[in-house]
Order: sequence, then structure tokens, then C-alpha cells
Amino acid sequence: MEIRQPIVTVAGHVDHGKTTILDSIRLTGVADKEAGGITQKISFTKVPIDKIIKRCPLIETNNIKLDITGFLFIDTPGHAAFSHLRKRGGSLADLAILVIDINEGIMPQTQEVLEILKLNKIPFIIAANKIDNISGWRKISDNLKQNLDNQSTNTKTNFNEKLYTLIGSLHHHGFNAKPFYEITDFTAELAIVPCSGKTGEGINELIMMLCGLSQKFLKENLKLGEKARGVILEIKKEKTMQYIEAIVYDGKLSINNEIAIASFNEPIISKIRILEEILPISSKFKPSAKVNASTGIRMQLTNNEEILPGMPFTIFKDNLKEIQEEFKKEIDIIKTDSKGIIVKADSLGSLEALMTLLKQEKINILKAGIGKINKKDLISAQTNLENDPLNAVILGFNVEEDEEAKELNKKNIKIIKEEVIYKLIENLLKYQEEKRNEIKRSKIMELGNICKLKILNQYVFRNSNPAVFGVSIETGKLRSGIRLININNEEIGKIKGIQSQGKSVEEAKQNEEVAISLPGVNFERQLSETKELYSNINANQFKEFKKNKELLTREEIQTLQKIAEIKRKQNTTWGV
Ligand code: GDP
Repeated sequence: MEIRQPIVTVAGHVDHGKTTILDSIRLTGVADKEAGGITQKISFTKVPIDKIIKRCPLIETNNIKLDITGFLFIDTPGHAAFSHLRKRGGSLADLAILVIDINEGIMPQTQEVLEILKLNKIPFIIAANKIDNISGWRKISDNLKQNLDNQSTNTKTNFNEKLYTLIGSLHHHGFNAKPFYEITDFTAELAIVPCSGKTGEGINELIMMLCGLSQKFLKENLKLGEKARGVILEIKKEKTMQYIEAIVYDGKLSINNEIAIASFNEPIISKIRILEEILPISSKFKPSAKVNASTGIRMQLTNNEEILPGMPFTIFKDNLKEIQEEFKKEIDIIKTDSKGIIVKADSLGSLEALMTLLKQEKINILKAGIGKINKKDLISAQTNLENDPLNAVILGFNVEEDEEAKELNKKNIKIIKEEVIYKLIENLLKYQEEKRNEIKRSKIMELGNICKLKILNQYVFRNSNPAVFGVSIETGKLRSGIRLININNEEIGKIKGIQSQGKSVEEAKQNEEVAISLPGVNFERQLSETKELYSNINANQFKEFKKNKELLTREEIQTLQKIAEIKRKQNTTWGV
């Protein structure tokens, strides 16, 4: 039986040490620096088993038998390490290392990765990294357990506190975790390997655990299929050339094959002009006539239609119907609703992850796509603005607006961009809640006006017919038509016009100073002794306002109380 290499993803919160640990495992950070010193972004590294055995003497001393021929480690760009790596029905990754800074514990991206691991049932181990940062820590031995046992009592206490805090939070997320040296049943318990990517402590133990897990859990899953299947990772454009970096996760691919790549429309069919495979422990590619999974490849295709990151591909042999069906199932998860928000993400996988979690929150999605936020997305959101304002929102997961969209969006379309799904959803819910209250509030405010005015005695422009004088708006919004009362509940008059700096205006806001005109009022006789005026509201309006007081500002509530006080001087049951 031919078996393929397990695909291993290293994931975790930013800066917790993913790259450092991966470097330590593959020894690129130290020994095998690329000639010429150009450190390219490596999205995948193939590490053959002989290199693993040489790197990790524990494999031989512990008599671990290995059938696998090596590992394909994936270090995806961006933070959403996992979501790029999807295939139908789950994740591309066979195994995962979840890196957690032992001093910081579970952070938002850690939580996100835990969810995805759970969802996809991927076996994983936890690298509790940066133990060298624990106060008093010294590297005493290459053997992690001896190292731990020989730390000072204080340091041991520090270490245990951090370890058990981590175990506690993992428990909270539904995982039964233990330090690897206490584990008896790997199928029921999650192994934590304390380590330091920086000093190399624990890395051998991490590799040993990885090998053990592969042998125990994966052998059946690692059977090499015939037909090549892969996922597009990145599209790189250099001058007129377009390079496609991809992972072949199953089967065999030859330069003579034609391939079909999924898209939101018809499959893209293309011949392969150049096929290259990643070299072991290197970021360089070498031309190859045929490659076997699991491996990282770079291709140039004859067809340069727009290919989207995250899309699956397979070999095409005049079987368009079958492929159409197959791809349809793959893309099916991107199901949209007849109304809802607009979402954009940087790859099919991240879009799926986002949509899955949005659906769990019962959020409808009108439109979903891959790539930058563009004019069409804005137009869809603008349509919502009129009849479904809560959904006039665009979510961008790891994507920005394109230039045109940036230019166009001077309007009130809310765009929320984040690199962590949880934050994205949290911000969306918060925004919708605020918007909902705003809409409710504007409805409430149609009922009547809560207004308090201070008369500016020094600005009386006309005594009567109509009286025109200055006021400062202490609470609320002023509009013509509002009826005003004084503190004795005497109706003074109805505002006919408002002027701000010599110009007529429809309305004026809190804290503004304006002139108002009141027909039928004689200022000197009726108002020269008056300091404040209030809007006149009736008992029913008062009750409605009171019912919705969480939508009112503190000043509005105070003014409302004052108006009630005025009214109750004459009618003690008013508004009760
Ligand atoms: P990533 O964002 O998860 O890939 O994190 P990096 O590998 O880039 O590491 C982030 C920072 O933490 C860098 O400054 C590393 O040097 C540092 N770092 C990583 N691992 C360790 C460790 O084990 N110990 C200490 N002290 N620092 C580490």
C-alpha cells in the first residue's frame, strides 16, 4: 500500500511562536538557511522521515516504528491558518500543532482554532510554548522531563500554575488535556507538550508525539489515491506570468494531465504549462514531470481565467458532468439567503468558516464572495439600506476594499473588517444592536419632542407679532411646530420658525444657540421673567417615552422628569 505524507498544520494566536516552532522542527531557522539569504515566505515544507529521525533521536531510543515517509507542514499566510486549508467535508490537515504561549494562555485566535479543530475532528497536540520565559527557568537537560524535574521549587511552582491554568481553560472549551508524560489514553486525552521554540526544549518530544499520533490514528487515512486532488493556496502574479501555489493532498499529478479548478460558475479547465514541486526542507521548487501527494506544488497554467484561493482542483478527463457535480457539492456550502448581509473573505476555506459561524448565530447572508470588497458589494449593501437597514453591512474577513470601493463608499455603508472571525461576528452583532436601537429611537422620537430651552434674554430681536428671541437648546432637538410651556404649565406658543446665524433652518440640535419666532407672544409681558421653556407633551406620550427610557439620553430623562413635575403640579395623576 502506498501512503502519502500526513499534512500537519501549525496554528495558534499571532506571536505565540508558530514560525519559531516550525523552524525548530525543520531546522531551517538555524542550519538550512536558503543559499543567497533570500527568505521567501514558505507556505509549505516537506520534511522527509530520515531528516525527522535525525532531528529527533527519541524516535529511535523509544523504538517508535514509522511507516510514514515524512510530513508536509503547512504554514499558511495570514492568521486564519486553518480556514485556508479546507477540502470537502473538512480540513486538509491530517494533524495539527496548536501553539499556545504558556504565559498568555488561550487568546481569540487560539479559541478560533480550537473551534475549527473540534468541528473538523482533527487530532492535534498542544505546544505550550515559551517555557523559557517562565521566571527562574533554566535549560538543564535536553530531556524535557528531566529538565522540568530539576528546576528550582519556585520555578516548578510557577510552571505548574501556568500549566494548570491552561489545562483549566482547555477544559472549559471541552478538552480533557494533560501534560504528555501523564497521558495513558491518547484517544481520550489531549497531549500538552511544554516547549520553547527558542531554546529547542521540548521540540524533540513534540516531534515524537506527532509521529506517534500519525502512526496511531492516520494510517488508514493516508492511503494514496489515484486521482490527484488539491487545493489552490495562492495566486502570485509576476509581470505577465501567473504562478499558482497549491497543495496536492491526494493522488498523483502529471504534467500531461489536464486539470479542472472549481469556481463559482463553470469549472476552469486548463493544461499545465509548468509543474514544479517543493524541495525537501526548502522554499525552492524544482520542475517535476509527476508528483505524489501530499506535496506542495507551483504551476503555470495555459488558461489564465480568474482563479480564486481556496478552490479545489482535480484531474480532468472528459468527465465534465461528474466534475461539475463534484464541485457543486464543494461550493454548496456557500449558500446564500434571499436577504441578509454581504460577506467577503480571502479564500473559499475562510469564507466557509465564517459562514458556518454566522449561520450558528442565525445571521442571514445575501451575498458571499472571495476577494476584495468591490463596487458590486457596495451596491448590494446600498439596496439593503432602504428596506433592510440592519443588513446594510459588509463583513471583510482578511480582506480590504479595492480602490474603487474605497473611492465610492462615502455613503453610510458599514464595512467591518477583522482577522479573527469571533471579533468580526462580535462587532457585527454590536453594530446591529446599536442600529436597531437607533431605528427604535427615531420611531419613538416621532411620537413627540423632549426639549428644554434656556431663554437668552440679551437676544430679543422682536417683542411681538411674532416674538423673536434667542434660545440655547439644553436638551433634545428643536423643530418648528413644537408647542412650548413654562414651568407653571402655561402654554406659551407654537414655534413658527428657527434661525441659525441669520438663516432659516428646519431643525436645530442640542447645545446650539438659535433664534425662534413665536406668533401671538409678547416677550416683555410673558417671558421677560422666564428662564426656561419646555416642550409640551401629553400624558400618553410621556408613558411611551417612559416605557422606552433605555433609548433616551440622560438629559432627555431628566427633562422628561422635569416636565412631569410641572404637569403634576396641576394634575397629580398625570402620566402615572
Ligand atoms: P508566530 O506569529 O506565532 O509565527 O510567532 P513567531 O514564531 O514569529 O514568534 C513571535 C515572537 O516570539 C518572536 O519574537 C519570537 O522570537 C518569539 N518566540 C517564539 N518562540 C519563543 C520561545 O519559545 N521563547 C521565547 N522567549 N520567545 C519565543
